[in-house]
Amino acid sequence: MPGIIPHPVYSKFPTANYDLMFLLRTEILILFFKIPEQQKAVIMIEKKSGPAGKKAVVIGASMAGLLAARVMADHFEQVIMLERDRFPEPGSNRKGVPQGKHTHVFLERGRQIMETYFPGLTSELTGKGAVWINDASNNVSWFHSGDFHKQGQSGISGIGVSRPTLETSVRLRVSALSNVMIMEKCRVLELIPADSNQRISGIRFFNSGKDAETTLMADLVVDASGRGSRSPAWMEKLGYQPPEVEKIKIDMGYTTCHFHRKPDHIPGRDGIVFLATPPEKRLGVILAQDRDRWVVTIGGYLGDHAPTDYPGFLQAVRDLPSPEIYHVIKDEVPLEHPVPYKFTANQRHHYEKLPDFPEGYLVLGDALCSFNPIYGQGMTVAAMEAGALDSCLENGLYGLAGRFFTKASKIIDLAWDSAVGNDLSYPEVKGSRTLMIRFLNWYIKKLHIAAHKDAAVSIAFLKVINMVAPPPSMMHPGIIWRILKHNFVPTIGSKA
Ligand SMILES: Cc1cc2nc3c(=O)[nH]c(=O)nc-3n(C[C@H](O)[C@H](O)[C@H](O)COP(=O)(O)OP(=O)(O)OC[C@H]3O[C@@H](n4cnc5c(N)ncnc54)[C@H](O)[C@@H]3O)c2cc1C
Repeated sequence: MPGIIPHPVYSKFPTANYDLMFLLRTEILILFFKIPEQQKAVIMIEKKSGPAGKKAVVIGASMAGLLAARVMADHFEQVIMLERDRFPEPGSNRKGVPQGKHTHVFLERGRQIMETYFPGLTSELTGKGAVWINDASNNVSWFHSGDFHKQGQSGISGIGVSRPTLETSVRLRVSALSNVMIMEKCRVLELIPADSNQRISGIRFFNSGKDAETTLMADLVVDASGRGSRSPAWMEKLGYQPPEVEKIKIDMGYTTCHFHRKPDHIPGRDGIVFLATPPEKRLGVILAQDRDRWVVTIGGYLGDHAPTDYPGFLQAVRDLPSPEIYHVIKDEVPLEHPVPYKFTANQRHHYEKLPDFPEGYLVLGDALCSFNPIYGQGMTVAAMEAGALDSCLENGLYGLAGRFFTKASKIIDLAWDSAVGNDLSYPEVKGSRTLMIRFLNWYIKKLHIAAHKDAAVSIAFLKVINMVAPPPSMMHPGIIWRILKHNFVPTIGSKA
């Protein structure tokens, strides 16, 4: 029967209980699994042109690694993910992703890409209690440059989901793929070179579950081990020049606390965001999350971090330019002590500039570039990079790194330029301020002032920060006119 495809590797998932198999319709496979949490996932796998190789290894099973593995599953016979952590109870935090305890915003572009690779993920998440944010303007209040933006119908949706819930769902989806295996408690120690170091042919890892070191050979190794990636050191050891590292120091600190969400808390709104403008260094966010919770984060630039004792944290919330978040939490009991996180610098590794890079090896996600978290770009950029990897793999493995790093650097440029450009609006942040950056920072400030009165201007900004529209769209003549009108033509401008 043409629709039935044998899956000899099912036996490698002892915890999985597969109760219904494959329906093949044209080129789409729809697989129904009972996966370990007894949730049903629908996984649609678009058949690709054919395997780029037999075996691939991914280092790190966080968001970038999981997305890469999902894409690679279409191009390799087998994908093995190695993660040094032990996976926690579903929806719980884990050691290797300490940022999981803090506000994580999933930008609309990232959610759309995820939905392509994991159809039905959004409804699966809302089924687990995540909050569907119908409109990022109408249902979220944005405060910038002294006032709230005017709200309107933006057409940008979103999802309020905690990082652990999101990561667990994605991990279960990936582990349910027939040709992907995720191994926990396995720390990669080094790369194994071949052909006089011209190619990476595998890795050596320590399996703390078995207390043993093992070697794993592969056609492609992908480093998704995050900001602390050892790739530069591993490459240097093999005689390669390490990549140039660009750092923009911002000394950002997050302090986060969770609360129960009650129906009478800011009805109709799923979040409030206070963005910081120089000379203010503090920003604040309240966002609806799964399990009827609010996550509240106070961020502080340049060492101005919020206290981690609860009275101090509450006072920091109270000190925000407007009292909305304070009014929500002042009489509530926090669900835990406030948790801190320090993020010293935006950090970008320019692998695309290297004259030589071994075949059979790639770096992506935060290992390539990690951004000031206040812009919420990391997971979306990782999703876009996974998309780029998907298309690069269509042309096989030879020269993959050159093709991939070129595409990835263009994706990163988009996010980096806006994040770093905005960070450079603080005179204390060290970095090169081109004429363009100075002009853009001036323009964005005027944009926010206009957005206080004009929802269309606010929505243009929200589309760009959600990465569903390119930055030049904020300079559409219609938007420029509105910005001029509200900043420089007060007699014509409305006074809403
Ligand atoms: C405070 C904070 C808030 C953030 N908020 C947002 C947000 O709102 N929205 C957003 O999109 N992004 C946000 N980010 C960024 C986001 O968390 C990352 O971009 C995202 O997790 C993708 O990172 P990654 O998978 O590349 O690396 P990571 O998430 O750091 O994961 C790396 C993984 O590799 C594993 N690992 C490391 N070394 C090894 C090894 N040698 N062998 C095996 N495994 C290894 C680690 O255990 C870990 O699981 C935030 C970051 C921070 C710090």
